[in-house]
Amino acid sequence: MVFSWILSVIRPFGIAFSHLFKHRFTVKYPYEAVKPSDRYRGRPLLDIEKCVGCGVCANICPNKAIVMVDVNGRKLPKFDAGRCMFCGFCADFCPRTALTMTGDYELAEYRRENLIYPPERLSKPKIVERKFVTVKKLSKRLGVKHG
Ligand code: SF4
Ligand code: SF4
Repeated sequence: MVFSWILSVIRPFGIAFSHLFKHRFTVKYPYEAVKPSDRYRGRPLLDIEKCVGCGVCANICPNKAIVMVDVNGRKLPKFDAGRCMFCGFCADFCPRTALTMTGDYELAEYRRENLIYPPERLSKPKIVERKFVTVKKLSKRLGVKHG
């Protein structure tokens, strides 16, 4: 009885101590983040110089997240991140490879209208000052080793 009580007090300390020698599973987000894979489909990025305004991206988009707009006499795509399901069709079918899917997944905004990316905004990559880490080793017992 007394022995099991002592054991129940000591055991949590033993478990906590054993974790001192394991890798941590988490990263200190948002100060550091796990680098998305090269094939990750985040927010599309437009290369305005390459775009010929054909409208294939707008026509192929299953969610109607892209519409063509007039900018100084040129037809260019406008993107709505609130409608996009990140399927990548627009980038895959663009005949000029003017659209590419980026690793940008931080698209939350406080206002609905801020989810709209006119061509100018769509052509600017997001610059995030932070340390990106990659998963070097994954072990069920020891955790994740980042590098
Ligand atoms: S981004 Fe590509 S598919 Fe879309 S209008 Fe421009 S050239 Fe055409
Ligand atoms: S990724 Fe898919 S849903 Fe999003 S804009 Fe492109 S085609 Fe539309």
